Amino acid sequence: MFNLTLSREPSILRNCAGIGPGALSVSKSKFPVSDSSGQRGDAPLIRNDTAVNVVVLLKDQVGAFRNYRISLDELPLDADLTARNVEGRFRLVRLTDEIIAKINVHGVVELECQRCLRRYDQPFAAAFDEEFRITIDLATGAEVEAGDEDERFAINDNHELDIAEPLRQEILVSLPMRPACGDDCPGPDRLETETDDDTDERFAALAKLLGEE
Ligand SMILES: [Zn+2]
Repeated sequence: MFNLTLSREPSILRNCAGIGPGALSVSKSKFPVSDSSGQRGDAPLIRNDTAVNVVVLLKDQVGAFRNYRISLDELPLDADLTARNVEGRFRLVRLTDEIIAKINVHGVVELECQRCLRRYDQPFAAAFDEEFRITIDLATGAEVEAGDEDERFAINDNHELDIAEPLRQEILVSLPMRPACGDDCPGPDRLETETDDDTDERFAALAKLLGEE
């Protein structure tokens, strides 16, 4: 319906005898109204990736933001744990010396039921904010040094902000302390006695996480 706009070219108008300029004018209201944030419609989808190039956001003013949707078939959490069907949204907000990522995702992780030892899909949901410090001053190209106490994640030299690591940690923390497969759990029939040293995948993963720090 907008191909008429091409006919507004004056040289073409001159060759269109019988069609006055008024017939070719297109009402401005027919054009989509562009929103400066570009976020009125569906936010862009980040598919099977966790990194976003934020160079444009870094050039924007403090308070500017971008919304994204994210969809991951898999996200490795640990040697033995993988989150699947991770879906959600996140918003990146540009602040003075950092970008805040406001993340909201859900999905499933296959766990072992502590009672019947069956493996089952445990749903999870994680909502959290994470800070990513700005590492390069785009105006000067100078590197921004981190303070000694600065434990924030960093935007990398290619201006990419990667939410994989905070996402991995938050999903691990969101998992139940004592995995249970649900109401139809057949119970601990397969166990002779319950012991306290049952392998708890979540504790093992957390212990490893803490050991890394
Ligand atoms: Zn069970």
